[in-house]
Formats: sequence, structure tokens, C-alpha cells
Amino acid sequence: MEQEKIRNIAIIAHVDHGKTTLVDQLFKQSGMFRDNQVVKERMMDCNDLERERGITIASKNGSFHYKDYFINIVDTPGHADFGGQVERILRMVDGALLLVDAAEGPMPQTYFVLKKALALHLPIIVVINKIDKPSARPDWVLNEVFDLFVKLDAPHHILDFRVVYASAKEGYASKDENVREGDMTPLFEKIVNNLPSPKGDINAPLQMLVNSIDHSSFLGRLAIGKISNGQISINQDVLVATGSDDFVPSRITKIYRFEGVNKVETESASAGEIVAVA
Ligand code: GDP
Repeated sequence: MEQEKIRNIAIIAHVDHGKTTLVDQLFKQSGMFRDNQVVKERMMDCNDLERERGITIASKNGSFHYKDYFINIVDTPGHADFGGQVERILRMVDGALLLVDAAEGPMPQTYFVLKKALALHLPIIVVINKIDKPSARPDWVLNEVFDLFVKLDAPHHILDFRVVYASAKEGYASKDENVREGDMTPLFEKIVNNLPSPKGDINAPLQMLVNSIDHSSFLGRLAIGKISNGQISINQDVLVATGSDDFVPSRITKIYRFEGVNKVETESASAGEIVAVA
């Protein structure tokens, strides 16, 4: 896959600010689903514990195509309890959407993840969602976000963030806070034009940063992560760095890409791609 055309992005949001609705809408409008197909599976659904505590626990991956771009969405846990995982996940992406409710503004539970993202100098697009609500107060919310960035020591170039006003529910986005119609094109365009592609060296030796483990009843454990450099293919011999000084020799038996909400088998993948491998 051509690295220039890949965007790996995280979405940072407080629970209920509309992350699931936004991702569903981006998937739908990017044509990942046929018009008459009901989207049965919400990509990032919340379980009760998440709702209760105001956090997202699991981390899920999915992707969609926009024009000739391949956009990977990486979910982030929204809470400090998952500090190590947050770091690893944010190291897979090259930019983030900060999704904020147009009436409520940013909530303290997202500060931790946002601070980590700012520390990694990730460019951020601020999406002020639920602009359709009568109680929406986008100017106030934008000020709150700006103050928060300053408080969290955002680097100067990141303070100059882009803003998109959206209704994930009604399916439109705009640079203009007064617009109440249209589609998600302005947000798609901001993502591909303002967030960078990954920067790995395809010709370097293989390095893959594993950030989570999935289980398959057929294949056992699957390592999910980003190929930082080089290329990976089936039957390749690799060393697994376990965190101690040990390196465990292993062989790659399967490689999957995330297409929509599914894993699709592939023979090989290269720097910049997010894959699951057995
Ligand atoms: P998540 O917890 O961040 O994944 O939030 P959800 O996507 O589940 O949305 C939480 C609630 O907000 C749901 O009832 C959605 O229908 C509603 N919601 C999401 N986006 C919008 C929006 O743009 N406008 C309005 N009015 N409601 C929205």
C-alpha cells in the first residue's frame, strides 16, 4: 500500500460526545457500506462499564477509503488507568481528531489522553460535534478547547489547530459554525489534507510496534500494531521483543489488514500499515 495515501488517526472523545456515531457516519459516507445495507455492527460500541465510568476501555481498529486514501481509525481508551496502552496506541498514529460536544465542551476525563497526544506533537483537528443541538454554543466550546491546549502546554504549531463543526447524527460537517446541511466531505478533506501520512522507511529492516493482542480460536494470539519500518510477509522469521532482554524467535503465519470493521487476509504489508499478525 502506498504510504503517502495512508492516514492513521486516533479519535479522542469523552463518552457520549458522539465517537460511535461519527465513525459510523464516516464509514457510511465513504461508501464502505452499500446504500441498502444496514450497518449492523457499530464499530465502537460502548459496554456498560465504559458508560458507567465515562471511559472507553477496549481499543478497536477499523478503516475506510476516501478517494484514493486509506484511513485507519484507531480507538483510544479515554482514561488514565490505561496509561501504558494510551501511549502505545498514540505512537501508531500521525494525527488525531478531538471530538467535543458543542454544548458541553471538553470534559476532564479526556485531558489525560489529550496531554499524551500533545506531548507526542500529534497534529489535531478539533471536531465540535452535535452542532444541530439547540443548546450548542460552539464559540464557547472553541474557547474552552483553546484554553485547555494552553493549559496542557501544547506546542505552538499545534495551538494553530483546525476546527470542523459537525453533526455526526445528521451527517454533515463544515468549517462554518452556522452551516446545518451538507455531508461529511469537509471533514474527510481536513483529514487527508491536514493530517500527515506515516513516515516509515519501506526499505529498512522490519520493525513492528505491537500495541495490543487479539485472540482467534483458530490461530491463537494475534499481535496488532503498526509496521514502523520495512515490510512483513507470510513465513518471515522475526524476533519478538517481549520487554525484558529476551528476543523470542517466531515465524509470521498470517497477516490481516483492517478493512471496514473486518480483518482481511493479505500476503504482505509495509511500513505505515496497521495489521494483525499471527
Ligand atoms: P460515544 O459514547 O462517544 O460513542 O457516543 P455515541 O456515538 O454513542 O453518541 C451518544 C449520544 O449522542 C447518542 O444518543 C447519539 O445519538 C447522540 N449524538 C451523536 N452525535 C450527535 C449529533 O451530532 N447530534 C445530536 N443531536 N446527537 C448526537
